[in-house]
Amino acid sequence: MIAPQLLSDYCATAILAVNPQDESIVACNPACETLLGYTSAQLIGLKISEIEVGLQDVFFWEDVRNSGVQEVFQVEGEYRHRNGHFIFVSKTIRIVQQDGQTLCIISANDISANKRLEDESARTSALLSATLESTADGILVCDLNGNVINYNHRLGQIWPWHANNDPSLHRQLEEFKAQLCDRSGFEQWLALLFHDPYIEEQNTFKLYDDRVFEISSCPLQYRDAPIGRLFCVHDISSLKATEAALREARDIAMHASKAKSDFLAHMSHELRTPLNAILGFAQVIEADESASNHILGGYIHKAGQHLLGLINEVLDLASIEAGKMALQLESVDTIACINDCLQLTEVLSKDKGITLQITPPSEPCFIWADGRRLKQMLLNLISNAIKYNRPHGSVNITLEHRQNECWRINVQDTGMGISEDDQRQLFMAFNRVGNAQSSIEGTGIGLAFTKKLAQIMHGAIGMSSELNVGSCFWIELPASAAPSPANAHQTIAISQGAQTILYIEDDLLSQKLIQNILASQRPDYQVFVAKTAQEGIGLAKQLMPDLILLDQQLPDGSGQMIFEQLRKNERTRVIPCIALSGNTLPEQIDDALRLGFCAYLSKPIQISQALLTIDQVLREHSKKKT
Ligand code: ADP
Repeated sequence: MIAPQLLSDYCATAILAVNPQDESIVACNPACETLLGYTSAQLIGLKISEIEVGLQDVFFWEDVRNSGVQEVFQVEGEYRHRNGHFIFVSKTIRIVQQDGQTLCIISANDISANKRLEDESARTSALLSATLESTADGILVCDLNGNVINYNHRLGQIWPWHANNDPSLHRQLEEFKAQLCDRSGFEQWLALLFHDPYIEEQNTFKLYDDRVFEISSCPLQYRDAPIGRLFCVHDISSLKATEAALREARDIAMHASKAKSDFLAHMSHELRTPLNAILGFAQVIEADESASNHILGGYIHKAGQHLLGLINEVLDLASIEAGKMALQLESVDTIACINDCLQLTEVLSKDKGITLQITPPSEPCFIWADGRRLKQMLLNLISNAIKYNRPHGSVNITLEHRQNECWRINVQDTGMGISEDDQRQLFMAFNRVGNAQSSIEGTGIGLAFTKKLAQIMHGAIGMSSELNVGSCFWIELPASAAPSPANAHQTIAISQGAQTILYIEDDLLSQKLIQNILASQRPDYQVFVAKTAQEGIGLAKQLMPDLILLDQQLPDGSGQMIFEQLRKNERTRVIPCIALSGNTLPEQIDDALRLGFCAYLSKPIQISQALLTIDQVLREHSKKKT
């Protein structure tokens, strides 16, 4: 037979006997010492109010004083330990009679650890709910059976809930589904998601009122096992509306651009046809031996030639301004091109007794340009340097390899120079500056046209001048390697106005995939492909694309290495880059974004997501350019 005293001595619950008359402790078991830090001797005689400090405990003893003793079960209280810290307890108070005296027997268990957990979990849930409520997206959490566990208020605004207490998502969404243009598609999608608890999916749904939602769903996991599903509902109505407006604007622009092309083709034909007759017959009259006809014919021929030159220049300028000039970019031997120009302008220079000379650089000089258009630009600058020179002056052409990996071609003359005021008017069409020029033949289009050509070839134009000493006009264009015999005839045609994308990728199928997607869905984008890091970096410098899609593993270097090379170059550092990779580790993605990639697209590519990202990066890049 076990003695009852033994039970109380070894019981883990603290037991106190309190005299309700004076509220003093009259007995306690050893567990009280562990709980409260007092010895039993110290506890006995102590007022219970020294120990019980919770508000509810204070009220209890006040009630006892006012209305007499009463029993309570499993209520929470707060005790003060001898060293001052507080302990949460769950206690029961029973009333017993002993030797004619009433006693309150308090049994108390320490629940501080539970309280702390409760507090922590309340804090976590407050944080979670604040996070849920702070997002503009609707968030919904379901269990594996499709019963709603949690959702934020934003979701209630986006998805009208069914006014019943049924927790089933399918039932709750009745009202929402009724508004969907493709209700059965949505139901099938939900069925698919709940069929495979691990699947991660994104889909877009349109409502009859024209709102569009992008809904993404991912598994909710606990200790690696799926326990439900999370839905994130993003209202993309305004994005879609902007896209539609952009598409419409693009269609209008394409229409206008076609009208411009038609106009240019028409004008070119209409102006040149009668000129053909005028110039032809002028030559017939000029060939007439009789003196008067010969002279008159000569006048008509000269005026006609001038008119033809003017028409050609105006049409060229109009076509470049209409974005209609297609370029054939290639590696051009600059010295050979300059020599051709010098030959063509030799007669003009001899007439004025001007000396033409070129100081070739010590290294080979190749630039990335359209050879025919480069010649046109140089002819403009050289013929100006001759036309606006003093008699028996000189024109000196020099070349500099600049730090920004461009070649600068300087055309220096010994003419009258251009005043600072006049310099501000240069490069604007039809601006012929200075009085002396009025007697010199010209249209005022050459410099404006040359500037536009330099711009569309990713180059620049500029000048410096000193009155009565001379002027130096220069053009700067990207340097390029000498064409190897294998690709000597390889040229790259760039449609003016198109957004250019360079895709650096060694995998043939991935190349084809991106080319196909962009060709079919974004015909306005022009895509170039490089198979190696070296080729990619070279093409980036030559093409100066609007965007680079960069695979992260190439045979001759990593995406990071290529990115850093591009960032080191003054010209290519501004080109936005999107990383493309099969590696979807979050650290890998974070590293790439920290390095400076605008976005990270994981393979296999989600087409709509990839297109959205590409569109957005291009949009931001063109905003920065303007
Ligand atoms: P154009 O020579 O047909 O008038 P351009 O556009 O080539 O037209 O040049 C515009 C103007 O700039 C010229 O009319 C001239 O006043 C000035 N200009 C151009 N090049 C020179 C130069 N080398 N020296 C002095 N003035 C120049």
